[in-house]
Amino acid sequence: MCGIVAYIGQQQASPIIIKGLKRLEYRGYDSTGISLYDGTELHTIKTTGKVSDLEAKFQGHDPIQATIGIGHTRWATHGVPNDVNAHPQTSNSGDLVVVHNGIIENYASLKEELIQRGYTFSSDTDTEVLVNLIEDVQRKEKVKLGKAVQIALTQVVGAYAIVVFDNKKPNELVAARLGSPLAIGVGEGEFFVASDATPFIEYTKNVIYLEEEHLAIIRCDRDISIRKITSDKVIKPYIEELQMSLENIQKGGYDHFMLKEIFEQPQAIRDTLRGRLLSNEGVITLSSLREHENKFLKARRILIVACGTSWHAGLVAEYLLEKFTRIPVEVEYASEFRYRDPIIFSDDIIIAISQSGETADTLAAINIAKERGAFVFGVCNVVGSSISRLTDAGCYTHAGPEIGVASTKAFTTQITVLSLLALRLGMVKGTLSRSEYQQHLVELESIPDKVSEILKQERLIKEVASSFKDANNCIYLGRGYNFPVALEGALKLKEISYIHAEGYPAAEMKHGPIALIDEQMPVVVIATKKGHYDKVVSNISEIKSRKGRIIAIVSEGDVRVKELADYCIEIPESLECFTPILTTIPLQLLSYYIAVQRGCNVDQPRNLAKSVTVE
Ligand code: GLU
Repeated sequence: MCGIVAYIGQQQASPIIIKGLKRLEYRGYDSTGISLYDGTELHTIKTTGKVSDLEAKFQGHDPIQATIGIGHTRWATHGVPNDVNAHPQTSNSGDLVVVHNGIIENYASLKEELIQRGYTFSSDTDTEVLVNLIEDVQRKEKVKLGKAVQIALTQVVGAYAIVVFDNKKPNELVAARLGSPLAIGVGEGEFFVASDATPFIEYTKNVIYLEEEHLAIIRCDRDISIRKITSDKVIKPYIEELQMSLENIQKGGYDHFMLKEIFEQPQAIRDTLRGRLLSNEGVITLSSLREHENKFLKARRILIVACGTSWHAGLVAEYLLEKFTRIPVEVEYASEFRYRDPIIFSDDIIIAISQSGETADTLAAINIAKERGAFVFGVCNVVGSSISRLTDAGCYTHAGPEIGVASTKAFTTQITVLSLLALRLGMVKGTLSRSEYQQHLVELESIPDKVSEILKQERLIKEVASSFKDANNCIYLGRGYNFPVALEGALKLKEISYIHAEGYPAAEMKHGPIALIDEQMPVVVIATKKGHYDKVVSNISEIKSRKGRIIAIVSEGDVRVKELADYCIEIPESLECFTPILTTIPLQLLSYYIAVQRGCNVDQPRNLAKSVTVE
């Protein structure tokens, strides 16, 4: 995780780097730092805490005029978050500084060797080992910085995105990546390097997404020079036009990114459907699927790999794909899948789901599937991300940048894409009748408006939140398509309000969790009329009989659940398979308002970071 920003050019580097780090705080925010070269000296300022703490420390420092610098906002993997472990990490000579995103897995043995050669270490980080390894190579091989970084990285096992600066060669930066992302903004006589393109969005629209295992030597008086870490052959960079605007990454009047993103969902879903759901012509087209449709139709199985919220979207997709295509589907945590020597047939299809497209475990799972000859289809939000490039084909969700750490619009747009996929395949395969297909198309098109309707109940949901904000535990129940929504609702509450919450299939209550019910226990039940309504009503009665407090998500006009529940939030009628997109919305708002009322930092919950680029 963690965010990297570096600048080389004619402008003052510090405001660009600090502003950029603030935009990358979704990636980590436990400690932070900056190194600036003022023409004679290298200055490094680091602190525990957030970028605003760094800014305060920086303002208390003597002014530093510098047009080159590197910065970092950290999500600690090795060593507690403190000033010493914060990046940039400095080499023993004090000449080299490095910012790093990732993990150097063999850091312990490398450290041992370096200690034997006289190096000393002040931090507990793996990154300090890397910066000294580069220095050691420089000393032994007498090579330039770029070459030294290349040689050092060939000795490293793990994942990294790094930017290196050398005080003795103060007109260049060296950047490299393996497993963690890096974007390079190309301006007029200036370059920006960052974990994503948001830090330089107002300065340039020209971006190079550094490829896996590539290294860039960046000098403002020259063009950028890119090569593979393992070879000296220079590679022509592919410069793309950035499709993002500043507006996309600002709060736009909302108190938090999470709230903004919840309210963006009608438009995000419309954007996901645009050009794919052609209801006038009565078709779904997924251009990336066209030449591969046959592979899906002949597939022995579909295996879905994902983590966190994307895994929940995968569970919804299991219901969708099995119902419409009758192809067996299994959903796996990517982190488990990659290490358990999974059985993968060459006629299996792997669907990898990840908002960022950088999730380390999902990337590893894809590599395993590819090695075993399976076809891999990606569902990602971030254009140009590693997963989107590694997969054989895929669909973007087009949700726009998601900055709040708790995923919202990514989830509903993932389900939207997976619905399109399931419906399209079902129609082509003939497992879904033409008339049902048409009916689903019409309904899917109406989903964004229905989401807008639900969002109008914000005030009611805020009131419900105030009754439950002091709870210590909470149970979420759902059945069928809404079982994964119960898991997702519980995850949202846990991650931003720190209330312990569990999601269960409603029928599982009797196999244990019902023992937890007493008058203190809030139980959120998804009880729409579609699906197993009668059964869920019985489950609600069972909770009521044990004095549990019930918040129910019900269909418009519901009568039976309203008699039993303490609070009801209505959603418009829809086809059962699309209800997860609708029932999720009140659960997002509920967790948001509970967290706000408990005084939690909604956009930056403790211990978390958005894109999990380390295992
Ligand atoms: N492994 C490095 C550290 O703990 C970088 C962690 C990250 O990518 O956030 O400092």
